[in-house]
Amino acid sequence: MTDTSVDITLADGFGRRWAETLLSVFLQGRAEDLGRLDRLAGDGDFGNNIASALRRAQQSIDAEEPQDYRGWMTAVSRGFLGTGGTSGPLFGMFFRDLAHCSDDGEPALGELSSGLTTAVATVQRYGKAEVGHKTMIDALVPAARTLESLLPGADPVQALDRTARAAIEGARSTADLVAKRGRASYVGEVARGVLDPGAAAAAIVLQAAAAAQSTAGPDLDTSWISA
Ligand code: ADP
Ligand code: MG
Repeated sequence: MTDTSVDITLADGFGRRWAETLLSVFLQGRAEDLGRLDRLAGDGDFGNNIASALRRAQQSIDAEEPQDYRGWMTAVSRGFLGTGGTSGPLFGMFFRDLAHCSDDGEPALGELSSGLTTAVATVQRYGKAEVGHKTMIDALVPAARTLESLLPGADPVQALDRTARAAIEGARSTADLVAKRGRASYVGEVARGVLDPGAAAAAIVLQAAAAAQSTAGPDLDTSWISA
């Protein structure tokens, strides 16, 4: 029987694997794929913004040699905070909140869930986007709600997998929408049929979290972006 009073601590090295998976997935092609989406429906800078955020995160990692979850997530946050576009500061604040969800070592699943909920609220406080506005929020809100709904007592691998799936589903739903926030809102109907790049990036962030907890390794299946 599952003991629902136990909040299971995530695997040793979870934060390091999460950060390293983000670096590899975005710097090996996915940033370009998302940049293409921003060229179709925004101003085209998204790919560059996300790639330069992660290159900056790598520099921060090289300089500071993070020792724990908070250190790894702080390095990712710094990379994004130093980047332009709308997404840079929003993802920067998002990862800063996630960095602070654990006092010591890897977070427990419940701590990660609280951190995710807080991080999403921060993005909404600054960006004023709601679900349906065709932004990263369309992936992040269902992800945070899904993870929260599975607590307490959830198996972390399954819970993070379902969280990532909810984010992917949310990201895919943006294709049907016209944007109400961000530069894609300037192009009206032209954005319909195009996935929101920020929502897709947010879903990849959650896929990377699931991969960091599982033994499946850092190769993420991102074929849903072009499906
Ligand atoms: P910009 O729109 O300034 O060129 P980026 O290209 O870096 O910024 O990022 C675009 C992404 O930012 C969009 O795909 C969307 O997901 C996200 N975004 C834009 N505006 C908002 C907002 N107000 N709240 C949340 N996310 C937003
Ligand atoms: Mg842009």
